[in-house]
Amino acid sequence: MDILLVDDDPITRLALCAAVEDWGFTPIVAKSGEQALEILNEDSPPHLLIIDWSMPGMSGPELCENIRLRDDGQFFYILMLTGKEGNEAVIEAMESGADDFLSKPFDHRVLKVRLAAGSRIVRLEQTLNQLASRDSLTQCWNRRMIDELLDSAIAEARRKTSNLSLMVLDIDHFKKVNDTHGHAAGDVALKHMVNILNTNLREYDQVGRYGGEEFVVILPSTDKDSAWGVAERIRASLQYHPAQVDAELDISMTVSIGITEFRHDGSDGRISLFERADRALYTAKHSGRNRVVYGD
Ligand code: GH3
Ligand code: MG
Ligand code: MG
Repeated sequence: MDILLVDDDPITRLALCAAVEDWGFTPIVAKSGEQALEILNEDSPPHLLIIDWSMPGMSGPELCENIRLRDDGQFFYILMLTGKEGNEAVIEAMESGADDFLSKPFDHRVLKVRLAAGSRIVRLEQTLNQLASRDSLTQCWNRRMIDELLDSAIAEARRKTSNLSLMVLDIDHFKKVNDTHGHAAGDVALKHMVNILNTNLREYDQVGRYGGEEFVVILPSTDKDSAWGVAERIRASLQYHPAQVDAELDISMTVSIGITEFRHDGSDGRISLFERADRALYTAKHSGRNRVVYGD
């Protein structure tokens, strides 16, 4: 697990780095509160932090307050290290947002067990986050999360006046898969669908399972022609690559896809995007399935 060490004193930084590395953590260092905030704004920041109290510029408690003011839902476990002692210091540190407090000089064995306790909480938070945001069968985003991601993607498209497309997919006659081969084979087929999606999409496209055999893909920076191309590739890829359930059973499937592009005229939002993509999907179903339809 990564751990962010925030201390202005190079000797303390070196000593802490060596100690936490010994205990199996990967240290990342910041020389100031300002630098720590920059690191926390990067992608996949460390979630366990050791912060020194007295630093030039932003102090430890000020840094804690800044971290707690963030509203992006990320969790950070903060242990504050300080030369101060006594209840007043503990209260001030923890009121500023620290989760734990240790006075210098400290026994390294105490820091080790305190960090072990902190990493248990970080892991628990990561597990809860995973359960709340992922579909348990396929591990793609769940409906709640894809709604949130689409709201963010719309906000970004508005800010940057960039393209954004939405794709809604529904496997054709999937009930027959379950009825013919059983629910367990149906589950394998759903996972296969997500594999097909992931292998045909870019890293920053977002895949979600919206309901039983209905999936949603958010395509940032993508106009309708490109979205059409991607959808067509997914449709063909599923048609020509059956799901392998076991040595004896391959399941062939097709999918119907509705796509639409975000409108920059101020009239569009998550609900209307979904309505257009859904209508296009409905048309795809009723004009023979195994096809892509654009909704405008
Ligand atoms: P259409 O082409 O019109 O979409 O027909 P369909 O059979 O795919 O659609 P319908 O909505 O009638 O059936 C969807 C089926 O998906 C019914 C349900 O049993 C199955 N299903 C939903 N969730 C799961 C799941 O988690 N696992 C499995 N194995 N099946 C599921
Ligand atoms: Mg279906
Ligand atoms: Mg359906």
